[in-house]
Amino acid sequence: MRFSYVTLFEGLIASYFEDSILKRAIAKELLSVEFFNPRDYTLNKHGKVDDYQASGGAGLVFFPQPLFDLLRSIKHASPEAYIIFPTPSGKLFTQNDAKRLAKKKHLVFVSGRYEGIDERVIETFADELFCIGDYVLTGGELPSLVMSDAISRNIKGVLGNEDSLSMESFESPLLEAPCFSKPPIYENKSVPSEFLKGNHAKITSLKNKMSESKTKYFRPDLFSRFNAKH
Ligand code: SAM
Repeated sequence: MRFSYVTLFEGLIASYFEDSILKRAIAKELLSVEFFNPRDYTLNKHGKVDDYQASGGAGLVFFPQPLFDLLRSIKHASPEAYIIFPTPSGKLFTQNDAKRLAKKKHLVFVSGRYEGIDERVIETFADELFCIGDYVLTGGELPSLVMSDAISRNIKGVLGNEDSLSMESFESPLLEAPCFSKPPIYENKSVPSEFLKGNHAKITSLKNKMSESKTKYFRPDLFSRFNAKH
């Protein structure tokens, strides 16, 4: 997978790939990461990429020219590039999107700043728009990283143990059951005794029950979807 980031702030994104699972994925050549700064494509000599809104009112927006030129050159060099705009106006990003997008070869994330991006850029280049939650962030860098991270986990070879994917939250309508480690009792709190007896059928049955009650409590919206199917 090739990830391209269009951003004014490369450092915010680059540092995330300098540790842990995604660093190893780059070393194994499962991922590659590159950056494009819209300022390098602007035709004005001050490197300006933002301007006042045509409608008047508070706040600046990315004006079209630098992003048109930049995205056109990416598309020209890589026709398979699939362009994603993080924006509060997009559809909510989900695990299904992460799995679907993990099958692409080249994803481009265009990070907005200010009040956002001139709509004509989005109309011309967007393959998809995604929102990562109902709140507003200062820029698209975090949403781009959130999506890239979730997508990367679904690329074969990125996770050490791919079995860990199948039981996770959002793989079914239910959240994952609570996890426990050692010791069996810590500060008077016990691991469920069934977990320690080694009967895998009973452990699975208990985990399913815990999964249901956790989902019912924390995510009644998911639980009603689960109920409708059973
Ligand atoms: N004026 C915009 C609005 O009200 O929808 C918000 C602009 S926000 C300050 C700047 C940039 O941050 C956006 O262009 C987008 O790239 C990113 N952004 C902010 N919140 C986001 C969210 N919840 N999901 C995805 N992207 C977001």
